[in-house]
Amino acid sequence: MVENWDVIIVGAGTAGIPAAIFAGQRGAKVLLLDAADKIGGTLHLTTGQMSAAGTALQKKLGINDNPKDHFDDVMRISENTADRDLVKLAVDNAADTFDWLMNNGFTPLKNHPVLGNAHEPYSERRYYWGPYAGISILEAMSPLLDEQIASGQVVISLKTKLKNLILNNKKIIGIDIEAEDGTKATIKGKNVILSTGGYSSNPELFRELSGPKLYWKGAYPYSRGEGLTLAKKIGGVLRGGENYLCGYGAILKSFNYPTEITTRVISHPHIRLPWEIHVNIKGERFFQEDYDSVHIREKKLLEQKNLMSWVIFDEEINKKSPALLKDFSKEDTNSFFSNHPMFYIADDLGDLARKSGVEEEGLKKTISEYNYSIENNKPDPFGRIHRPLKIEKPPFYAICTHGVSITSTVGLTVNSQLNVIDAKKEPINNLFAAGEILGSGQTMGKCSAGGMMLTPALTFGKLLGQKLLSW
Ligand SMILES: Cc1cc2nc3c(=O)[nH]c(=O)nc-3n(C[C@H](O)[C@H](O)[C@H](O)COP(=O)(O)OP(=O)(O)OC[C@H]3O[C@@H](n4cnc5c(N)ncnc54)[C@H](O)[C@@H]3O)c2cc1C
Repeated sequence: MVENWDVIIVGAGTAGIPAAIFAGQRGAKVLLLDAADKIGGTLHLTTGQMSAAGTALQKKLGINDNPKDHFDDVMRISENTADRDLVKLAVDNAADTFDWLMNNGFTPLKNHPVLGNAHEPYSERRYYWGPYAGISILEAMSPLLDEQIASGQVVISLKTKLKNLILNNKKIIGIDIEAEDGTKATIKGKNVILSTGGYSSNPELFRELSGPKLYWKGAYPYSRGEGLTLAKKIGGVLRGGENYLCGYGAILKSFNYPTEITTRVISHPHIRLPWEIHVNIKGERFFQEDYDSVHIREKKLLEQKNLMSWVIFDEEINKKSPALLKDFSKEDTNSFFSNHPMFYIADDLGDLARKSGVEEEGLKKTISEYNYSIENNKPDPFGRIHRPLKIEKPPFYAICTHGVSITSTVGLTVNSQLNVIDAKKEPINNLFAAGEILGSGQTMGKCSAGGMMLTPALTFGKLLGQKLLSW
């Protein structure tokens, strides 16, 4: 058994796997631990959308792109809230990461790259994902990791949890671990990489760090923020809470949070123009429903109580409009009104308000103003153009939606070498971090910039293994 590992990597997920592969290829003796019984972490769940500029695939397709434009796009979309140094480090090295995956069998979908669609689009086609989402990425990396394991450079220990970081004279010298059967051990290492992911499977920590309740139970079960908490205990500094943002329009299965998502309301006007109105708990509209900016919608939602909004319509709209819910037909949608806690139907607006929890007076006033402006051909106060029908024919319908997020905004502060730093901005020697443990608030800022969690996770893990560590 190795007495003093060159590199101990805690977390065999998106960031940890490339770190292990590249450190192993460079001749390091690597111990790769994971609390789960398999490698992969969030790659088992993620949509797998990456962004990279200047890739070989773009060149082949004649797309003239470069990291500077990628950087400018992320800073534009995030309204300069992302961490410039980390974004630059990620985008400058993203093409290498993407090309490396492609050289090892990763194949994106046929029409890729694209501009984006669920998030605010990029100004150039630099957004890619594979047919099996995160698994397409894992499948490209696994054989490379297997090679390192076979050659003895990397040793994997699954069902093994990090329990403590051992600090000696401002330097990490090892870690305490605990196996699933309760066996404890202390391991020495010259470098420790924390790639334990986020905290979005830990409702208490989510509430403490991100702010709102954890509504959605959809993150990797081991994303409990343990690495983050342990690093904080020895002087690591957390940051980014002000950048919390959530996705729009999730229909949760129940009010027993955290819970699963049944589906989402299609709120992207380029996919489906709105026939309904969206209101907050006061019954007031709060954004222009037909304005095609995901980012603006998401930011407006942040100002609404409990991140909740209700989609309101009447029988005529129900009959004439295209299907409103992602992956569900109109028939399916209508069946939810008899058996789903987020769907309400009533013969008058007062009853609809009482059933759905929206303020009655506000709802009635909003609908009357909306109808009046259509009837009299007056401009909409929010600037909405697409107003095909008034809301006037019973029965009336309401669907309750929540703003949800499954990623972790807050993360550890690192320097440009990905070395964890303390409150005095001094490095905690030998302690490095990569992946969601750095917080989405850094690599995306207060926005959802396409691929800007996965790409940095893979890229930072790769860079640590490839060149940032020494032993
Ligand atoms: C449903 C979903 C969709 C997403 N879609 C996208 C997308 O399309 N594009 C994008 O950019 N981002 C996306 N993200 C975010 C992105 O996938 C993640 O931020 C990224 O994969 C996290 O990588 P990671 O290496 O930090 O963590 P992970 O891949 O989760 O790896 C962390 C590993 O650490 C292990 N671990 C945790 N605690 C301990 C401990 N105490 N001891 C030992 N091991 C531990 C875990 O078991 C896990 O294997 C999505 C996330 C989700 C959940």
